[in-house]
Amino acid sequence: MTARTFPTGTILGYPRIGRRRELKRAVEAYWSGAIDDAEFEARTAELRAATRERLAALGLGRDDSSIPESFSTYDQVLDAALAVGAVPERFARLRDADGRVDPAGSFTIARGEGEDAPLEMTKWFDSNYHYLVPEIGPDTAFAAFPERLVALVAEAQAAGFRTRPVLVGPVTLLALAKPADGSPAGFRPLDRLADLVPVYAALLAALADAGADWVQLDEPALVSESLPDAPERLLEAAGEAYDALGAHDDRPALFVAAPYGPIGDALAVLAATPVDAIGIDLVRGAVPALLDPATEEALAAKTLVAGVIDGHNVWRGDLAAAFEHADALRSLSGSVAVATSTSLLHVPHDVADEPDLDPRLATWLAFADQKVAQVATLARGLTSGREAVASELDAAAAALADRAGAPGVRRLDVRRRTAELGDADFSRAGTADRLRAQADLDLPALPTTTIGSFPQTADLRRARALLGKGELSAAEYEAAMREEIERVIRLQERLGLDVLVHGEPERNDMVQYFAELLDGFAVTRNGWVQSYGSRCTRPSILWGDVARPEPMTVGWSTYAQSLTDRPVKGMLTGPVTILAWSFVRDDQPLGDTARQVALALRDEVADLEEAGIRIVQVDEPALRELLPLRLSDQPAYLEWSVGSFRLATGSARPATQVHTHLCYSEFGVVIDAIRDLDADVTSIEAARSRMEVVDDIAANGFDHGVGPGVYDIHSPRVPGEAELRALIERAASVIPADRLWINPDCGLKTRGYDETVASLEHLVAATRSVRAQLAAAAVVPALVD
Ligand code: GLN
Ligand code: ZN
Repeated sequence: MTARTFPTGTILGYPRIGRRRELKRAVEAYWSGAIDDAEFEARTAELRAATRERLAALGLGRDDSSIPESFSTYDQVLDAALAVGAVPERFARLRDADGRVDPAGSFTIARGEGEDAPLEMTKWFDSNYHYLVPEIGPDTAFAAFPERLVALVAEAQAAGFRTRPVLVGPVTLLALAKPADGSPAGFRPLDRLADLVPVYAALLAALADAGADWVQLDEPALVSESLPDAPERLLEAAGEAYDALGAHDDRPALFVAAPYGPIGDALAVLAATPVDAIGIDLVRGAVPALLDPATEEALAAKTLVAGVIDGHNVWRGDLAAAFEHADALRSLSGSVAVATSTSLLHVPHDVADEPDLDPRLATWLAFADQKVAQVATLARGLTSGREAVASELDAAAAALADRAGAPGVRRLDVRRRTAELGDADFSRAGTADRLRAQADLDLPALPTTTIGSFPQTADLRRARALLGKGELSAAEYEAAMREEIERVIRLQERLGLDVLVHGEPERNDMVQYFAELLDGFAVTRNGWVQSYGSRCTRPSILWGDVARPEPMTVGWSTYAQSLTDRPVKGMLTGPVTILAWSFVRDDQPLGDTARQVALALRDEVADLEEAGIRIVQVDEPALRELLPLRLSDQPAYLEWSVGSFRLATGSARPATQVHTHLCYSEFGVVIDAIRDLDADVTSIEAARSRMEVVDDIAANGFDHGVGPGVYDIHSPRVPGEAELRALIERAASVIPADRLWINPDCGLKTRGYDETVASLEHLVAATRSVRAQLAAAAVVPALVD
């Protein structure tokens, strides 16, 4: 085994998507057949080469393992699963004679094929990145397939680099996996640790052989409290795994990183194993104050990698404090390095790519490239002393001070309003009063509606692009949108829907649309981050106090309402979702920021009411997503998140029907929170789980209106009328008909018109037939007695 020194500065990973989303383009072109394997390989190799050169130019070493080899064409968890041969049975046909899955095959596992569902996808710790969930059972045949990783090392070497391969560690891989279909009850993938560790040992040996001095194993599972396996069990597994991996003498030096949580007990556990370097997320928590003597002694012989540059936000931050935190670790070990707290996967590439950003705001920000430069600065400080980097630390402090005092960051008018809020501002009239006041909406039993958006056609996107380029005037754009709204209203009338929507043609995105109209936000041009696979989002930056200079949706909604006698829903995005899908200021509690957003929405609700809109929907698809991983953090979160929704909707008149929409079906987990939102009607996802959620709803005595989605909009499939009728009957068997709404699972923006129209026709027909059935059933007993 090697005893090489760890580089003084490094990052845990770098964005893979490319400065201009080159990876997205390459992957999608490959999927569509527009480019072949060789061209795809050439394009991704180019991207990796550009990344290495860029990182070297920003100050990481070319030959000291400081540049991570963290590329993935789709997902790093899938890569790790394939590197150990964990291929689900239904995809066994994708393996070649040696058991290997080629790149095309790995995309098939990621995306599914025909009847074979893809791996499930879920949130990567508390980020907005989504990984593919490996499936591991008692019989999964593990085997080492190091070729992909070895090829990256060789590719780097050929270009004159000595890089550090990055791989999801064995404990985290098992902890994130779900039991493969057919596993016996009580089986946990972690039960297979002893079988998996030798396979990791083989991967490590192959990497050492290829010339890797260091390998990084990511083990966030050791510091997360939210996984099905108990924390103690995970730590015990880590002890076993790293004792075993460390014992091999044909291995590279091992760097085990534990990002996304405070290191806690994982530090002592890793210290007791032969790993060479330990990565600590110091943004999430300090090193435990009290360490036992054995741990102290063990740590003194290891490199401690101080994750002090926040990989999870876009702020330049307090560089001097980061330096102090790293420097303080020197009391534990003579070998300390600085790093990002997590991979930089979660931030865009480069602030310098944002010519439209206010230049002053730009100085407060650090995207991936700026964070790499910060790491390089701190590394220099560790090597040469604080004095050597004093000017950089001072410049960061000056930017922070400038930010604190800049106009718009703290607005008296906004702060006075939030300071004056009282309990009454968070509550509406009682349910009975509201029901009475809303009776004149005159809705039938099982009212039908949709979630808000209608298909975003190529014409709509083109109109928006032309407006951006100045090739379409604001008036022409407005006329095009109005035409679309009229079309959508007429379509809904023809379909026979009861509560209509304007269709959201004017929205590029349900958060960015509002960010562009509110004070306190900035939007980026190239600030894309990977959400999953080839999907990216471009979060807005919430940098200052939030206020609404003028109404944001009233014009569109009232125009839509003017076209029809049926009620048209006003459509807003809720405060929690606006925060969840933006980069949010880090200088005050989220709850304070949420209240400001809520007040802006509250004013919008009032203006909609004033303009004659009777139903307002406030979407909160991210409510569940932002729920903290740690149980102990959940009550405080629910308090401010639910509170901000209630603040946004609390002034609505009793006669105004407030709807909300949540994008998931794990109703049970947050049922109390959903009830506390106190919306008159809540629509949720349900079709994919065959309406299982209605049992949760019934069991929990949810007594407001509810619309479990009957039409799965995540697929182009058109559900038949009989199928929909069965789903509606199932829902109506447990939820009283006067509270049950019939709607699709989510917005229709990603669907095409043909399938949308056909599906909605079936939805209305099925609803009418169940209504008739219910009416008959209500009459028959009366006739009998
Ligand atoms: N109103 C939005 C739409 O219909 C809701 C989208 C969402 O829940 N993600 O598109
Ligand atoms: Zn949704």
